[in-house]
Amino acid sequence: MGTFKLGKMTLRSLFHKPATVRYPYEKRDLETLFPHMRGHVVNDIDTCILCGMCQRACPVDAIVVDRKGGDWTIDPYRCVQCASCVRECPKDCLSMGILPTEPTTELTTVTMHKDMPAKPAAKAGAKGAAGKAAGAGAAKPKRELTPEQQARVEAARKAAAAKKAAKAAEGEGAKAAEGAPAADAAPADDRAAKMEAKLAAMDPEKAAKVRAALAAREAKKAAE
Ligand code: SF4
Ligand code: SF4
Repeated sequence: MGTFKLGKMTLRSLFHKPATVRYPYEKRDLETLFPHMRGHVVNDIDTCILCGMCQRACPVDAIVVDRKGGDWTIDPYRCVQCASCVRECPKDCLSMGILPTEPTTELTTVTMHKDMPAKPAAKAGAKGAAGKAAGAGAAKPKRELTPEQQARVEAARKAAAAKKAAKAAEGEGAKAAEGAPAADAAPADDRAAKMEAKLAAMDPEKAAKVRAALAAREAKKAAE
């Protein structure tokens, strides 16, 4: 039975076209045969914003994005057609082309260029300058207050003025107290008594030295 089947297959193959083609000299219509094949990566550079997400997503570092220079580069012979970059692209500008990259004897890369707009920082600066210019030209319109709001503002102003006056009076009182010698007399007596007690507790020799120093200071004060 097996021999009969094998003979039938052999005879049929003799009169049929071969199942394979002599690639790359002969090519099949891949677009019709395999419409979902991943052959190579296609970038719609007009939609691309050179964000670099595809570069980060590529597992074999086949994509290089140079935002400053405005270049998007792919190495098609390094690409493994995993489509990670296509999935990650936030602008949907990447897609998988059906046909595979042409065979070659020299490895090359494909670079696409796009002129990017000026830096956002420069934009912000310009915006700020424009805003300032506009501000200088037109003064901010004054807000109309309701009578209740006006009353509240008045009350707040009065309270602030009263607080200021109280603070000023406090300061004056402190100055007057500094200028009055009689007020200092009692604390001076206290200090003298405390010093005497300390000196009494000290070593007599050291106490004599301190006393001499104190007397010299008093004499100097009196001379002034
Ligand atoms: S992820 Fe998309 S938009 Fe971003 S650089 Fe790559 S191709 Fe351009
Ligand atoms: S298809 Fe995969 S391997 Fe090819 S460039 Fe995109 S992420 Fe890299």
